[in-house]
Amino acid sequence: MRCPNCGDDRCIIVEESETNQKGYGLGKGCCGYLILGPIGWVCGLCGMGKSHTVRRTFWICQHCGRKFRT
Ligand SMILES: [Zn+2]
Repeated sequence: MRCPNCGDDRCIIVEESETNQKGYGLGKGCCGYLILGPIGWVCGLCGMGKSHTVRRTFWICQHCGRKFRT
């Protein structure tokens, strides 16, 4: 893989995992309550605290340190 910044081909691939906790919780619980009543509220609460991990792979140039995606 060639670096788009300096053109060096000594790039290494790295994997990074990131935890995403956005989009869950109270808002979802309220929507559940409006649609399904108390059961929906409980379901919404169940979604709280859950998170999913996003894995990202990208390259790092050993020459200039630039990170880039393929
Ligand atoms: Zn570079």
